[in-house]
Order: sequence, then C-alpha cells, then structure tokens
Amino acid sequence: MSNKLVAENVQLRDRLVGLLAEAQRNQQIMRRHQAFDLKFIGASGLRDLIESIFDTLSESSQLDVVTLCLIDGEYDIRRIMADLALDPAEFQNLLFIDREGELGALLPRLKSPVLGRFNATLHAAIFPAQVLTPSSVAVVPLMRHGALIGCLSLGSLHDSRFAGGMATDFIEHLGSIIAICLENVINNERLKRIGLTDSLTGVNNRRYLERRLLEEIGRTRRHECSLSCMYIDIDYFKKINDSVGHQGGDEVLQEVAKRIKTELRLSDALGRFGGEEFVVLLIDAQLPHALVVAERIRNGIAQLPVVLTCAEPVTVTVSIGVTELGPGDRMQSIEKIAQQLIARADAALYEAKENGRNQVVAARIAKN
Ligand code: GH3
Ligand code: MG
Ligand code: MG
Repeated sequence: MSNKLVAENVQLRDRLVGLLAEAQRNQQIMRRHQAFDLKFIGASGLRDLIESIFDTLSESSQLDVVTLCLIDGEYDIRRIMADLALDPAEFQNLLFIDREGELGALLPRLKSPVLGRFNATLHAAIFPAQVLTPSSVAVVPLMRHGALIGCLSLGSLHDSRFAGGMATDFIEHLGSIIAICLENVINNERLKRIGLTDSLTGVNNRRYLERRLLEEIGRTRRHECSLSCMYIDIDYFKKINDSVGHQGGDEVLQEVAKRIKTELRLSDALGRFGGEEFVVLLIDAQLPHALVVAERIRNGIAQLPVVLTCAEPVTVTVSIGVTELGPGDRMQSIEKIAQQLIARADAALYEAKENGRNQVVAARIAKN
C-alpha cells in the first residue's frame, strides 16, 4: 500500500472514530432529554415539579445554581403555594416577579435562550443576592401561548460552560417542556380551587368547609388546641330580595362575605354554607374570643348600609350562633364531632333568631 493510501486510511478511520463518538454523545444527550422529559411530565403536582426542576437539573447537568423565575402579576401562583402549604423559604431559588418588565435589559433578548458570562446588572432579577453567583449563565425563556410566563436560569461556576454561539437545542427543548408542565400543574391547582370556591362571593364553599372542619378537628386532637365555630345567617333576607331584587340580594351576599372576612385571621376559614348562610371556623380560638369576633362581625355588618349598584343602600343585619369544641367531644369520631359542632352553632343561631335577630348567641351547653 502506498504511503498516500495508508495516510488516507488512517484519516478515514479517525473520522469514523470521531463520528462514532459523536453518535454516542448524541445518544447520551437524547437519553438525558428523555429522562428529563419523563421526570417533569410525571410530576404529581406543583411541589413535585418545582423540586424536580431544581434537583434533576442541578444533579444531572452538573449546574452550580438553578433559579426559576415566574411572572405572577395576580399573585395567583403564590396564593396556590400558600394553599398547598408550600413555604417560599423552602424554595429560595424560586423567584416571583409581578411584571415581565422587572427582567429589565434581559427581557428584549429573551426571544430565545441568552447565554454568556454573568453580568450583575443584566442578571440581577434572576440571580438575586440570596443565591450563589455563577460565572456563566444560560437564561431560558418559558413561553406559553406566545407569552412569557417566566424564565429558567442555569448557572455554572465555569466561565466557559455557557457562551454565546453555543447550540441551544437542548435547553430550548427543556424550556418548552418545563413551561408546559408548569402551566399544567398550576391549572390543575386552579381547577381544584374552583371546585372548592363559591362563585358568587369568592369565599370557600360548603364542600371545602366540611372537609376543612374534619382536618381541624383532627388537628385539635393531636395538638390539644381549641376550635370555635360560628353559624351566620342574614336576617330577613327574603325581604331584602323582595325589596332590592335578586341582583341586589347577590350584591348583599358579596358584601356580607367581604365584611365577615375583614374580621378574620388568615388562618380562619370562612365558607358560604347555603343561600344566605355562612360558617366560620376560628382556628385555635376559645369561645370568649370567638364571641368577641362574632360581635365585631355583627356590628360591622349592621353599622353601615350596603351600597348597591341597582337600588338604594340597604341596611343588613345578621344573627350568629357560636360554639366551641368541648372536652366531651374528644371521645367521639371526627365525623360525629363535626356534625355536632355545626348543629350546636345552628341551634344557637336559631335562638338568636328567636330572641329578635341582629345578635350573637353562644351555644349554652356543650353536649357530648
Ligand atoms: P331569617 O331572618 O329567619 O333568616 O329569614 P330569611 O328571609 O333570611 O330566611 P329564609 O330562609 O326564609 O330566606 C332565605 C332567602 O335567601 C330565600 C332565597 O330566595 C334567598 N337566597 C338563597 N340563595 C340566594 C342567592 O344566591 N341570591 C339571592 N339573591 N338570594 C338567595
Ligand atoms: Mg337561612
Ligand atoms: Mg336568613
């Protein structure tokens, strides 16, 4: 074989080895893509997805810092997190901004992933003081239906890990999968909330309250704390409806719900139990405190007439029955206790109605 031929042969073999290595690398990348996709798509809820994003990416891609920034102008996602008892302190790298404008100079460039050296001014919003400062970063836009919903930011302590001009197919794909999964889990949580919310007043519905009552009774058993319950009913609501019309009546219901809510703590639970009836669970509150709150609610409603869009302002009063969980309650099943607690508050409410309405009555005997 001539020398030329040998050289050509070696060259070809080298190319073949190179191509094989590239094919292997690509296969590995594909496998990693699939593993990521499966992990994110398989997330069971918001917590699971957020944890997957941080854990999977940091470990598998050997990143030094990963942040996820979500645009949450309506405070919607943060409310969902609070409902799910997801503590923001647990997720320091999960960031919220109210408007996309808060991304500053980065925003116009976020049509596609932005790669390069870390720049304190450019990246301030996505790598805030509490997270590790990287040397090079890739900021991946998260888009849904043509709108930016946030961005995923990958940071490395190596200068050369992310540089302009690098191929971004993988992280673009990652961004689109994560955006879809985020939208999915958030929408699922929204749907669950809708099923537990009263559409007219925006407060919880009966289903939510009944479920919550069981949980709270369980909690009082475990922690030996107290629980009070109020049954609130609007006085002569039928007459109000007759005088201001059904729409006016609806507005009264909305305003009453609002006024009740202003007297409660965030941890208390308010629900519309039926037509013009509301139930409140006062967490960790004994009867004397519950009576004070009930009196504030009664007064807050009676004091100022309700302004209506379609009729003259109307004076509204409510009657309230109040009770607390008694020591004798602890012997029974949680379901039975829940039933009895509501029944006692309802009986006290009936008494308030009998006594002339616009008043608060405490259940007299804490029966077993
Ligand atoms: P009381 O002081 O004894 O509670 O008298 P009341 O008239 O408030 O009680 P009653 O139970 O007789 O009437 C309740 C009324 O509430 C009857 C019903 O038409 C009205 N209602 C129930 N749900 C709604 C609603 O969603 N919107 C409006 N506008 N009215 C409602
Ligand atoms: Mg009623
Ligand atoms: Mg009524």
